[in-house]
Amino acid sequence: MNRNFIFTDDTELPVGTMYCIGRNFSAHAKEMGAELPESALVFIKPPTAFVPNQTAISIPSISKNMHHEVEMVVIIGKECSNITASSALEYVAGYAVGIDLTLRDVQALAKQRGEPWAIAKGFAGSAPISTAIPANKIENPNNLSIELEVNGEVRQSGSTNMMERTVEQLIEYVASIFTLREGDCIFTGTPEGVGRLESGDMVTAKLQGVPTLEISIV
Ligand code: ZN
Repeated sequence: MNRNFIFTDDTELPVGTMYCIGRNFSAHAKEMGAELPESALVFIKPPTAFVPNQTAISIPSISKNMHHEVEMVVIIGKECSNITASSALEYVAGYAVGIDLTLRDVQALAKQRGEPWAIAKGFAGSAPISTAIPANKIENPNNLSIELEVNGEVRQSGSTNMMERTVEQLIEYVASIFTLREGDCIFTGTPEGVGRLESGDMVTAKLQGVPTLEISIV
């Protein structure tokens, strides 16, 4: 199985740790019945969660309710810790579009029990990510339209200009806690409209200026 990010200029980077930001769009926090967090809400997917464009993904047998969350993915190109937001974009290798696949029933039970989200969010195949575009091709990552279609029908539509925290602020925050390394990435949160995927669905994720991601659910 390929575990490299592939860029449109044919360069590759091994996939590292995936840091994911929860509730970075207020309308999505609202649809989940959740408050906006005071500081960024962060959880992690392991590198084995990654699958590339055109993968067929099965719904794990432990769940009856796998949801799509379309998100911009920021790929880190250089190790950083304790940097300021003003220099954060210097550490970005590129951008992609990904789907934070979530076992909503497993997550709901974990929330109820005060347990971690690792299984609900980090299972194998939970992070399909498109081919990436090099950072210098994107002028402003905080103003890109983002959309997800299931079987040709638009389910999620928004813009990264609706994010509560910008790409620069997220990199500064995550790097201040964890240290980011080359090949790590940040899923920057999802707009509203998350919903259930079923076997047979064809899912298309789009981020302005970035190659489209297509996956199927089997
Ligand atoms: Zn998410």
